[in-house]
This record gives sequence, C-alpha cells and structure tokens, in this order.
Amino acid sequence: MDSDLTLDGNLTLDGNAAAGVLAEVFVSECTTAMTRCDACGAVEMVGALKAYVQAPGTVLRCRHCESVLLRVVRGAGSCWVDVRGLTWMQFNVATPGRSSGADAV
Ligand SMILES: [Zn+2]
Repeated sequence: MDSDLTLDGNLTLDGNAAAGVLAEVFVSECTTAMTRCDACGAVEMVGALKAYVQAPGTVLRCRHCESVLLRVVRGAGSCWVDVRGLTWMQFNVATPGRSSGADAV
C-alpha cells in the first residue's frame, strides 16, 4: 500500500486502503440497494428499475425517464460495471452490534 502525506497534513493512501469497505458493499444484496437517477433525480430500489437482459450484458434503466443507469457486462474472467447514469447507490450493510433489518434513514 502506498501512502503520501500532503501539504495540508492529510494522509492519502492508495485504493487498497478501501478494500475492506468495498468488500462489505459489493457482496451485499444489490436488488434492495437504493439508486438515484442522475438525469431526473428519481430514487428507486434496484429491483424496481427496468431490466433489459437480452442486450449485450444487462442494462438497468430508470422507470421514470428511461435513462440508462447501470450496465453490467461479463467476459471471460472479468465483469465490467458502468454506473455513469447514477448519482449514487445506497447499499444496506450490517451495522456492528446490531441485528439485521431496516434501519431508519
Ligand atoms: Zn430518471
């Protein structure tokens, strides 16, 4: 892991420092993740988006404005995920010391 101390005193690490949190997020149940459409601002669960599975790969579109939100293409030993249509995704993750279930937002 590479690290740099910037002039303002902040310690900057390379992307390997995010391995733990990324592993936690990307093994989550994704269909219950919330999304925000970057084009129209609609907020929906992944499971409520329009899915086109006969395209080259899988395409998820906004049910309100039809914008492409997310694309997933699988290849030999690889998977590409394009999330340019999203402002953000919110995954449900376990909170240490709490049982599972919906947390109030
Ligand atoms: Zn939209």
